[in-house]
Order: sequence, then structure tokens, then C-alpha cells
Amino acid sequence: MLPTLETLSESLGGLDGSRILLRADFNVPLGPGGEIADDFRIKAALPTIRWLTGQGAAVTACSHLGRPAGKPDPRYSLARVRARLAELAPGVELRENLRFEPGETGNDDRLVQQLADGCHGYVNDAFGASHRAHASIVGPPLHLPSAAGRLLSKEVEVLLGLRANPKRPFVAVLGGAKVSDKLGVIHALLETADEVVIGGGMCFTFLAALGHSVGDSLLEPDQIEACARLLGAGAPIRLPSDITTLAPGERVVQAGVDLRPGWRGLDIGPGTAAEFSDVIAGAGTVLWNGPMGLFEDPRFAAGTKVVAQALADSRAFTVVGGGDSAAAVRQFALDRDMNHVSTGGGASLELIERGDLPGLKALRESADNP
Ligand code: ADP
Ligand code: MG
Repeated sequence: MLPTLETLSESLGGLDGSRILLRADFNVPLGPGGEIADDFRIKAALPTIRWLTGQGAAVTACSHLGRPAGKPDPRYSLARVRARLAELAPGVELRENLRFEPGETGNDDRLVQQLADGCHGYVNDAFGASHRAHASIVGPPLHLPSAAGRLLSKEVEVLLGLRANPKRPFVAVLGGAKVSDKLGVIHALLETADEVVIGGGMCFTFLAALGHSVGDSLLEPDQIEACARLLGAGAPIRLPSDITTLAPGERVVQAGVDLRPGWRGLDIGPGTAAEFSDVIAGAGTVLWNGPMGLFEDPRFAAGTKVVAQALADSRAFTVVGGGDSAAAVRQFALDRDMNHVSTGGGASLELIERGDLPGLKALRESADNP
């Protein structure tokens, strides 16, 4: 069990007048001019912030943004996030980008001490960063009474719930670019899911494993054997039956699953999209991770859109995990029709795969050693 905000308040004898260090995930997508393209990550931390301030605590928040190289870089300043946060939650302090310090990714105890200094308690609400053993994630629980924030608790409850007792049939829909990123999670899902449906760029390595020719589509030759092993063992994996391709001369051509040289499979075909939708409609639980095609290009967004709509229309408990899939769902304005859209990309996959994260372990151990 993760320590909650309530148990933190109890162990501090109430929060009135206390200062709480909040690790949030304000790693917002940035537009071309460095502006905040979407503030959903800031809004996602508000329930925790409002609860803390409502109890009389002063909140010092911290976050990373982008991947600066361990030194200050104005492109990744949190100044704009600080301004937006001040509109949404006045009075909350926000430190500068944690990754301006080399000690953040290096988990340096001096940075941990500096973060904890002057604070009475620590709250982790940065689900999207909790798969990293970075200073701000695993360090403060060694020094301060600690708790999981509302967002972190909800993410863990929903995602671990998929492993523990999903309403059946439990269908996992996986896509995205690379099989190598997701083979671990496919293995884990095959333990609990009734069916694993695979589209996106990674379907071509599976199709190649079945002996199909995939033309110039994304292919990871070194993963073919692993895919063949899964399919050979009779794992309940469903693959596309038609593909939308980009053929020579910039022509968009519908094809089956054997592609000519020079043809690139960039989306599942309409027949496959309909078939996947039927599977989703009949499910009790659906986890979706990874776009079905190159959805950033409108010519290849149809498969992703149809699958997103099928989740939105389904009576199943629907969970979307993965940075790009969640972005697709928001782009189609279907995020409100899902039961849960995870704020974590890598973190959601790792939690499903391993059942734990370094940041969660740190909170539990802090609770064991008050
Ligand atoms: P998520 O972030 O949801 O986990 P991934 O990062 O694994 O998803 O993959 C997302 C990327 O995969 C998107 O940029 C998308 O354009 C790309 N993609 C999906 N299908 C294909 C395809 N058939 N060919 C090339 N790229 C693809
Ligand atoms: Mg991604």
C-alpha cells in the first residue's frame, strides 16, 4: 500500500503551517515557439495541490522539463509553466527545471538534501517520472515523511487493477513504432489479457515472422525470432488483415498483408480497423497503447481514429497508456470518453510490465521506516 496524503497529514500532526515538497510531472509538450502546447499535465496535479493548500500547507513544487544536459538551458526553463501554475494554483512555488542539475538523473544525495531542506514532508505526484530512480523521485522519501499524491494513486490503482482483476474479456490493443520497446509488456499482458491486438509499425515484425513480405515498412529483423516464438506458442495475438500503404510516387494504396518492395505500411487498413473495433466492442476491459499508424499524417490517421472511437463507444473499462496514444486521443477530443488516460508513457508500460516502479518502492519504504 502506498502512503496517502491523509496518512502524511496524520504523521505530521496536521499540515497547517507545514511546507511540502511536491514532485510533479510538468513535462508539458512545447510548441514551436517554446509555448505550452497542452497544459493537461499541470491540471492533472491540481487535485493534490488544492488538497494540500486546503489543509494549510505551503507547497514547493519541482519538475523536470525536456532533456537538458544537466545544466541550465533557456529552452527548457519552467518560467512559462510557473506562470500557468500561478493562474491555476496561486501561491505555489515552483523550482527551476530539476534536470538543470546533473545530480537529478545521477540521484546525487546533495541535490536530495537541497530539495528536502526546509520541507516537512514530500509528496510524489509525478507518475510519468516514477519509473526513473532520479534524485527527486527516490531521494526525498529517505529523509521526509512521504506520500503518493492523488494522480499517482489513481494511476497505480487503475494500471495495477488491469493486472489483478480486469473485467473480462480483457483486450490489449498495442501499436506504436517499435516491437523492441514493447516486447516486455506484450509478454506481461499475455499473462492476463484474453487477447492482444497488434497494429502500428510493430505489426510488420510479427507479419514478417509469419512469412509475409512487408515491403519497406518498419521492420526489426532482430525481433522476428521472438515474435515467431510467441506466435508459434499459440499466444492469443490478433494481427491486421489489410494495410494502408504509401506506394512509389506518393500514392496511398490499400493492400493486404503482403507488400511489394518499395511499399510502406503506414496504417492498418479499413477492414482491420473494423475488425479491431468489433473486438473492442465485445470487451469488458480495454488497454490501448500505441497508435495504429503514422497518425501525425492525416492520410494515415484513420486506423488510430477508428480504434480511439471504438474505445470511446465501448461499454468496457477503457484505459489509454503511452505518450503518443494519449496525445492522439486528446487530438481527437475523445479523452473524456475514456475511463482513464494515463499521464505516463514509459511509466505506464513499466508498471504494467513489472507491477512496480522505483518511485513507488521509495514511498512504501519510507512508510515502513517513519
Ligand atoms: P506511445 O507513445 O503511445 O507508447 P510509441 O511511442 O510506441 O507510442 O509510437 C508512436 C509512434 O509510432 C508515432 O509517432 C507513430 O507515428 C508511429 N507509428 C505508428 N505506426 C507506424 C507505422 N506503421 N509506420 C511508422 N511509424 C508508425
Ligand atoms: Mg511514444
